[in-house]
Amino acid sequence: MELKYTRKNVYKEADGKELESIYEFSEGYKKFLDSSKTERGASETARKLAEENGFKPFSFSEKLKHGDKRYFVNRGKNIFLIKVGKEDVEKDGIRIMVAHVDSPRLDLKPNPMYEEAGLCYLKTHYYGGIKKYQWTAMPLALHGVVMLRGGEKKEICVGEDENDPVFYITDLLPHLAAEQSAKTMSKAIDGENLNAVIGGLPEVGDEDEKECVKSAVLKLLNKKYGITEVDFQCSELCFVPAGKARDVGFDGALIASYGHDDKVCAYPEMKAIFDCDSPHTVLAVFADKEEVGSDGTTGMQSKVISDVIETIANSFGANPIEVRYNSKCISADVTAGYDPTYSSAFEKRNSTYISCGAAVSKYTGARGKSSTNDAPAEFMGFIRDIFDDNGVIWQTGELGAIDIGGGGTVAKYIGNLGIDTVDVGVPVLSMHAPYELISKADVYMLYKACLAFCK
Ligand code: MN
Ligand code: MN
Repeated sequence: MELKYTRKNVYKEADGKELESIYEFSEGYKKFLDSSKTERGASETARKLAEENGFKPFSFSEKLKHGDKRYFVNRGKNIFLIKVGKEDVEKDGIRIMVAHVDSPRLDLKPNPMYEEAGLCYLKTHYYGGIKKYQWTAMPLALHGVVMLRGGEKKEICVGEDENDPVFYITDLLPHLAAEQSAKTMSKAIDGENLNAVIGGLPEVGDEDEKECVKSAVLKLLNKKYGITEVDFQCSELCFVPAGKARDVGFDGALIASYGHDDKVCAYPEMKAIFDCDSPHTVLAVFADKEEVGSDGTTGMQSKVISDVIETIANSFGANPIEVRYNSKCISADVTAGYDPTYSSAFEKRNSTYISCGAAVSKYTGARGKSSTNDAPAEFMGFIRDIFDDNGVIWQTGELGAIDIGGGGTVAKYIGNLGIDTVDVGVPVLSMHAPYELISKADVYMLYKACLAFCK
């Protein structure tokens, strides 16, 4: 019996076979990342993969049977994957896993387009918590949808193919930045300065001298997508960092990518529901709007998840309240991994570490645990047993040192439904930066954790 607790490094513990599995798993993850830059992208990728895995569309008015596999895409931005097990759902509840698939980015304003000094721009409004200076002077891609008059929907994705152009937000040259450099970091780049350059070729012979570049860009957009300027008012378009997920390090032990938060948890939970052979009924959710408070029809504060649970319960004549109270949930979200370069932001005995496995957070929140789910000891005990019984290497920690800041996840919204919930995720470095860093060992361990939870 070990009297002392020591954190384990997954790479040190792994034998040759497991190391191979870790690297293999990460190839699928990188592909998923590259097709899932927005919540719409992630939901569509998951829907396609669900179809390939034998899942069929779900309806609130259907009666589910044991063995059914269903998917419900909520407004294109939030997907529910359901696998009905043979256990009595009233007594056994549902094994629920929730990750979010929205990530910090730059949304377009409703009237985004203007021209100044020979360049055409789109104005943005940032979405989620970002350090604004990180989003300048780098290649950006444009993703989203535009509704045309009459209901036709145009999908736009420009900047991801290597032959595509990209978009660009300028920063001030250091030679002239004495004033800017004296400002605090949060003020150095103003929110209203996050304007992306989208064109510079004037329309020759345009009467409107002041807006001849804008006219030319609008012509291009109209030719390609049939849109006019007013259509931006009925669109959801955003700029995200252009480019693909990449291995990091000579050994390729890590992955840098846009949107690890929280696709690094969404992918393992999705793979787990596909791969598990479980007697339990399992529900995997890709949530939207987590980065802005989980509100709205596609966020986890919406009633939709209760409706899905109720539909499952009603299918078997089970009491939906009993089903909820007997359900268990993993809120699969990232946490801040210990970063030795910024050690003062962390308490090293209670931090999670890169490559040390799935990160379990009993609570999140800020200051005196404000706004936290705080999983009960009994549920922590349950989670420990299933992870330890199934060879899951896991660790636990807080999101940074006390009073340094804080954060939350969707855990509290699931907890509020009377469902035991705990945060289990992956430690991330440079969270919310355009390019975030994770370990291949940790995303694989989260997959094993999700599989153990479904089992
Ligand atoms: Mn997150
Ligand atoms: Mn986040």
